[in-house]
Amino acid sequence: MTTRQDCQALDAADPLAPLRQQMLLPPGVIYLDGNSLGAMPVATSARVQQVLTQEWGQDLIKSWNTAGWIDLPTRIGDKIARLIGAGPGEVVVADSTSLNLYKVLTAAVRMIKADAPHRTAIVSERSNFPTDLYIGQSIAEQYGMRLVLVDSPEEIAAHLNDELAVLMITEVNYRTGAWHDMAALTHAAHEAGALTIWDLAHSAGAVPVDLTGAHADFAIGCGYKYLNGGPGAPAFVWAHPRHADRFWQPLSGWMGHASPFEFTPDYRPAPGIRRYICGTPPVLSMAALECGVDTLLAAEPLGGMAALRVKSLALTELFARLAEDRCGALGVTVVSPREAERRGSQVCLALKPPLEHASYAVVQALIERGVIGDYRAGDASRLDQVPHILRFGFTPLYVGFADVFDAVEHLHQVLTREEWREARFNQKAAVT
Ligand SMILES: *Cc1c(COP(=O)(O)O)cnc(C)c1O
Repeated sequence: MTTRQDCQALDAADPLAPLRQQMLLPPGVIYLDGNSLGAMPVATSARVQQVLTQEWGQDLIKSWNTAGWIDLPTRIGDKIARLIGAGPGEVVVADSTSLNLYKVLTAAVRMIKADAPHRTAIVSERSNFPTDLYIGQSIAEQYGMRLVLVDSPEEIAAHLNDELAVLMITEVNYRTGAWHDMAALTHAAHEAGALTIWDLAHSAGAVPVDLTGAHADFAIGCGYKYLNGGPGAPAFVWAHPRHADRFWQPLSGWMGHASPFEFTPDYRPAPGIRRYICGTPPVLSMAALECGVDTLLAAEPLGGMAALRVKSLALTELFARLAEDRCGALGVTVVSPREAERRGSQVCLALKPPLEHASYAVVQALIERGVIGDYRAGDASRLDQVPHILRFGFTPLYVGFADVFDAVEHLHQVLTREEWREARFNQKAAVT
């Protein structure tokens, strides 16, 4: 049995442990929700303050040039590229994940329409994050295509045929943490003559990603999760250079124009990925996002994402094992994949009947104890879903091994003391 002392020893020997100093975490909090909203970097406050007081307050509109505001989408894009196996000049930061998906899925569908109009299926997983499915529905309707949803990763193979237009997959599932093999699926989709779109919302900054190595076609991802960009931070978008110049993305705003400051009446897309920018960048949010991305780049001298992945796997394996050992007899099961190569940076637990309906309240009781995870509902009638999930994200940048140990002990106490029965833990808030 692993003891707390064992975990403290692991922390003491962890070469990545000092990276935690970059984050502002309230004392007494074990933050296991960095997969939903990353923690705040220490640097962010002063940087945003500088943008406010100096760049905006003093230098006013000159800052578009003097402070480089205009370059923020490409400058931060280049930094994110280093985390996802993309090259410089291949990624821009803009808009939200939902909007960027709209852009790349439309671009992919337009390309397929031109090259292979008989292909009409956009395939995704029913368990994908809802916004991806909703955007997919809208585009399928608009272009006379079908959004086909599969109920298991294995079922994807049945759709690798000459009707497949686009395979639209979230690399790490937001609910279960299950990780797809991007290179293998991309290869299979290409063999079938289709294009791929990868949502990296739960991958960028969480697991090593190699878009170039996987020969992927398009990718999008989120700034406020593992990239620590702050609530509602802008998102990023990547198109393989072989596609970036090919079709206009549909949101042809002036900032994606080849020469925005010529103010011409006709749209002429900028070369490459810059055309995926739509309007004026949100400078304050971008400044915060850059601080977040920098916290991950700070790991580069220590081995970068590969080293973070090793730690992440050790953390998630430890959590899953301790949860089973300490809380298995209390009805806790691990529903994330136990095989390392199939798991992202989170572990989801479920409670066996009759406790399953206490799942939300158990998470609330943990939060009151300072262990912040979240609860994800689901549809009990669906084969692909465990309906009540207790979700815990392990951000290797700032979560340690003793945190894992303590979190499981808190869970043990919440269950043995039946704290979840208290009425205040059973009031559903607007955001779960
Ligand atoms: C978090 C997440 C999003 C979020 O989209 P927004 O436009 O930022 O609200 C989209 N897709 C996936 C897979 C996510 O996990």
